[in-house]
Amino acid sequence: MRLPVLQHSRSDPLPAFDGPVRGLRDSHGRTIRDLRISITDRCNFRCVYCMEPDVRFMRKVELLTDAEIVRVVRVCHALGVRRVRLTGGEPSVHPTLAALIGDLWAIGLDDLSMTTNGSVMSEADLAECRNAGLQRLTISLDSLRPDRFAALTRSATSPQRVLESISAAKRVGLEPVRVNAVIMRGFNDDEIIDLAKLARELEIDMRLIEYMPLDSGRRWDLSKVVTADEMLERITGMFPLEPIGRERTSSPATRYRFVDGAPGRIGVIASVTRAFCSACSRLRITADGMVMPCLFSTNEYDLRFVLRQPGSTDDDIARFLAAATLRKQAGHTMHDEHYRQPDRPMSAIGG
Ligand code: SAM
Ligand code: SF4
Repeated sequence: MRLPVLQHSRSDPLPAFDGPVRGLRDSHGRTIRDLRISITDRCNFRCVYCMEPDVRFMRKVELLTDAEIVRVVRVCHALGVRRVRLTGGEPSVHPTLAALIGDLWAIGLDDLSMTTNGSVMSEADLAECRNAGLQRLTISLDSLRPDRFAALTRSATSPQRVLESISAAKRVGLEPVRVNAVIMRGFNDDEIIDLAKLARELEIDMRLIEYMPLDSGRRWDLSKVVTADEMLERITGMFPLEPIGRERTSSPATRYRFVDGAPGRIGVIASVTRAFCSACSRLRITADGMVMPCLFSTNEYDLRFVLRQPGSTDDDIARFLAAATLRKQAGHTMHDEHYRQPDRPMSAIGG
């Protein structure tokens, strides 16, 4: 496919990076080791906290091609990125997913994982991705109640279908399987204990996520956030927990095991109440090739423009990434009175 040469960059101002590029270091002393890359903005769900029913997806020509994604990841790997997570939108609707995974894994990453809603892939699809190089899978499941799940995802998919994907992922060796649940007050917070039970029964890592102000419907407010402390208190009332720390200092989840020795673990991602920005090692690239140095960035840097310039070199890409990394903000500012939600919802950033 011939791509049009782009005449105008949509980038926020980005001063050129001077000097040799030795890695991706920001101006707050953090080094980038993790890349979250959105491989599509499309999705078969319309989760209430993420995507509006009348969402308009981007034109195909606006999305990075597989070759462009692989090129960016190769440059990032040379600059010290070790782990890549594929996300979206819904990455499993990407038409050439297994081939893309194979090309990415061949780069020599330490880890390649994916976050999915677990509603599209068969066991054979999961096995194909595993064989191509996918190491781990995170599956989102916010409710175990069919009527609530349907209302939340605005889909006809049942939680049972997602549970089957969790079992299939384990069978094909995509372990440890993590399950993400966004907890919203008055919506699914009465299922916290059931989700903890699921962690024990299925021997999975259950990640309970604080609802973040990244929803397309702009319905977020603090009163709907169930804090990590409250989630842990509720679980501990039934199943005492003890902390086992983070997987790495830069990992978003604080993890707990069950004191009674039951299998499975609980993790909480407390982006709202316990920001973990000072240890962040992540950079995000959107499906249309914008670099977002932070999930809450209101600035975007147009890497696609650089990629599609005739004769652009890997050094041009590396310089651009290094310059964008220098613009990584110290932390999110969602508690400031002047906080401005990014224009993009989570689905268009890549959660
Ligand atoms: N479609 C895939 C999925 O749902 O797992 C991957 C993309 S989704 C944007 C990635 C993760 O972001 C999901 O676990 C989803 O629940 C979470 N997410 C989306 N909007 C959110 C919000 N406003 N607050 C917290 N988490 C959110
Ligand atoms: Fe789709 Fe995931 Fe967003 Fe739900 S959270 S609408 S599954 S991208």
